[in-house]
Amino acid sequence: MDTTYVNKWEKRWHPLREEWVVYAAHRNSRPWSFDKNSIQTNTGEIYDPTCYLCPANKRVHGDVNPNYTGVFIFDNDHPVVGINAPKVHSHDDDFLYVKETAYGVAKVVCYHPHHNTSLSQLPGKMVADVFYAFRAETTLFKNDPTIKSILIFENKGKEVGVSNPHPHCQIYATDFIFKFVDQHIKVSNDFKRKTGKNIFEQILKKEMDDGIRIIAENNFAVAFIPYFARYAYEVMIFPKKRHADLSTLSDDEIEGLASVFHTVIRKYDLIYQISFPYVMSVVQAPVDGDSYQEFHMYLWLQPPLRQPGLIKYLAGPEIGIGNFMADTMPEEKAQELKNIILSEI
Ligand SMILES: [Zn+2]
Repeated sequence: MDTTYVNKWEKRWHPLREEWVVYAAHRNSRPWSFDKNSIQTNTGEIYDPTCYLCPANKRVHGDVNPNYTGVFIFDNDHPVVGINAPKVHSHDDDFLYVKETAYGVAKVVCYHPHHNTSLSQLPGKMVADVFYAFRAETTLFKNDPTIKSILIFENKGKEVGVSNPHPHCQIYATDFIFKFVDQHIKVSNDFKRKTGKNIFEQILKKEMDDGIRIIAENNFAVAFIPYFARYAYEVMIFPKKRHADLSTLSDDEIEGLASVFHTVIRKYDLIYQISFPYVMSVVQAPVDGDSYQEFHMYLWLQPPLRQPGLIKYLAGPEIGIGNFMADTMPEEKAQELKNIILSEI
């Protein structure tokens, strides 16, 4: 390992969030052990008659799912944003207390009919099909003048609050620009003004030059635990060529991105031999018609576990004031993931 990174007690600047992350991995040196039997794995039946996502089952408002065999997408029956949300529009004189309609579209994406089969367990071709669907949805919303920003995300595992174990993700398309997307635009424009360079390209260059935090790579995409990771197993996956959103990726790039993603989540499952929980988001530029030349879309995986059965709870520093305190080093966690050898599936 490069000796530049042997220190276990330091803070690092997070250039995309513009905040410090404090690493105190020297406190984490005691050995741990765990009982594999105490951890719930993704078992169960292929079909659950009570599941509202399984094929041919009835959903809450009476719609019946088709007998789908691959990716199946439908409008969320309990939408957080909707085209029929109550019409609201008001503000005070100072524009301090402002409210608007919770307009948008919320969809559910089932990856596969099998109730018990996670993305990591599917063949690579089916994972690519999911990414083709993500690209198609992005293109669809890009052509909708009422939509400004798209979030595609998967909450996986009860550790991140998922109520239905049937593998699925969600799409929120809104008439406002999401917080991190807005911040990414600001920091990338600032960086360009100061240095003449693209911030995402520079991050990619540094990660590829260092090499020690890279988890998976092919001709089209690269995955790494970033130098400034907040979560122990946090991974960013970038297409190597810059795209503001998924709609402009070629078929080769979609398949390359899906393949690197698949490799990472398969490695996740093998760290502790469990169906590894995570939050995955597709971070994309707004689709409001402006051009976002400096934006570089990516996939972002933020798993809650730092050890088997041990969740990174957000508490005083994270919730109380907004800075992360990590007790593992990105380089050590990257090495764990690098050391996992995958078999062909
Ligand atoms: Zn199901």
